[in-house]
Amino acid sequence: MGELDGRKALVTGGSRGIGRAIVYRLASEGADVVINYHSNQKAAEEIASEVIKLGRKAEIIMADVSDQSEAERLATESIAALGNIDILVNNAGIGATAVGRPNVATATPDDFYRLMAAHAFASHDLCRMIVPQMRESTRGDVVMISSIAAQSFGPTGGTYSAAKAAMEAVAYTLAKEERANNIHVNIVAPGLIETDMAEDMVKFLGRVKDSINELANESPFGRLGYPEDIAGSVAFLCSERASYITNQRITVAGS
Ligand code: NAP
Repeated sequence: MGELDGRKALVTGGSRGIGRAIVYRLASEGADVVINYHSNQKAAEEIASEVIKLGRKAEIIMADVSDQSEAERLATESIAALGNIDILVNNAGIGATAVGRPNVATATPDDFYRLMAAHAFASHDLCRMIVPQMRESTRGDVVMISSIAAQSFGPTGGTYSAAKAAMEAVAYTLAKEERANNIHVNIVAPGLIETDMAEDMVKFLGRVKDSINELANESPFGRLGYPEDIAGSVAFLCSERASYITNQRITVAGS
């Protein structure tokens, strides 16, 4: 018996990094999972086969969640694939450095729009599409994967921090709106986690020569965060152990 037996999850950006670990952890606890990806089909197929080995159902769906019609299609196809979705993890995202101009004084309106679309608009679109049918389930969970950046507001990343802050505002509001329907809405805010995104970001900023692991010694506990650290928090929030928890933000940054 797993803590999430019978639950049906949609994880956006489930093909790599943090999303991949969340998919694996939710399936390990008994959930069937829709794995959304954007471009890396091979990675999505690999984690899907891991889920199937666990004896759970896995569906992979390609969709650019930053495009409204794609996000709507993802929601519709996810519900059709699993019958209903009672766990939504809004994880897909891009870093400010991915668009190349991370400073406030250099980021263009289009850069800002791209970050807002990937994090805030996508999360809102998926909540708008998924939450109404979630009300029919005994319990629903929405987890937003935000970032410590939405509170620290460090330099080089204003578009990213603003997009994550908007995503969090949606979560805090939704938590109050849907509590009466037994839908729990929480935020997980990672620090620096060992993934492709973090690797690219620290290289872009010139913080390392070769690898993100050069930063391990200056990180809390002498190591970087692992995707599994985030996945554990998400699984906890969706479990019975968190049945009296909603509207919360858990920082998973070792500090
Ligand atoms: P990652 O390794 O770059 O993986 C990103 C995932 O999101 C991939 O599965 C990618 O799909 C998917 N994706 C990106 N844009 C998408 C789009 N428009 N539509 C659908 N899927 C999309 O990133 P990560 O580090 O795991 O980050 C995951 C989340 O954690 C992000 O929201 C990020 O902001 C947040 N976060 C990360 C860190 C960190 O240090 N890593 C810290 C704080 C917060 P493909 O495989 O198809 O490309």
